[in-house]
Amino acid sequence: MQQTAQLLAALTDALQSGQVRVVDLTQPLSPETPVINLPPIFGQSPPLTIECICQYDDTGPAWYWNTLHLGEHTGTHFDAPAHWITGRELANNTTDALPVERFIGPACVIDASREAAADPDFLVTRAYIQAWEAQHGAIPAGAWLLLRTDWSKRTGSDFLNDSHTPGFDADALRYLAHERDVKGVGVETVGTDAGQAGGFDPPFPAHNIMHGAGKYGLASLANLDQLPPQGAVVVAAPLKIVQGSGSPVRVFALVGA
Ligand code: MN
Repeated sequence: MQQTAQLLAALTDALQSGQVRVVDLTQPLSPETPVINLPPIFGQSPPLTIECICQYDDTGPAWYWNTLHLGEHTGTHFDAPAHWITGRELANNTTDALPVERFIGPACVIDASREAAADPDFLVTRAYIQAWEAQHGAIPAGAWLLLRTDWSKRTGSDFLNDSHTPGFDADALRYLAHERDVKGVGVETVGTDAGQAGGFDPPFPAHNIMHGAGKYGLASLANLDQLPPQGAVVVAAPLKIVQGSGSPVRVFALVGA
């Protein structure tokens, strides 16, 4: 008890003094936020719309607030296991039921920004992850595996890039889910799967394999270039939407200065 009290006091002191920095991993959320395009036979997630209820005027002289209309998977967001059919039978698979302890954990950041710049369809493989581990240490159980591609620095149509965006191959995802027991994967692109993943085996393996294993996803992250390969702590807590498949989320990392 005494020891944990000291630990927490040391953390709040370090945050106060700037010895531990907070890095925002979240993109701004606006009507301009890009949303994923699916083939027209499928339901579409709309862009965010914001309707002003009042702003210090006749309909509310002393207050300001808005009504939002958006898909659960808009902008920087969290994917719960129930998002995919492979996770539909799992216990506690929706945003309201996920254990709150799972919203905080260590981060491993794989930097594939050079490869993604050279080839927008670049895929992280098992061998690529193992080479990273040889250099930076094994990925601990319960870690967020964050893929830096610098995709968050792209704007306009370059961000969706006509569905040519980097990601993981299926074998890399099996390795992360089953041999490393990660919390989930986080990416800078619009979704956790590569842009061409609809044609992979299985289709959309980041969703199929990770959610089938009860793992989570984070999409449209930013500022991954400010994180060390290991050592950061990430907090990503979705809204407690009853039976939600995911939610926009404010994600941040604690980093040693
Ligand atoms: Mn999603």
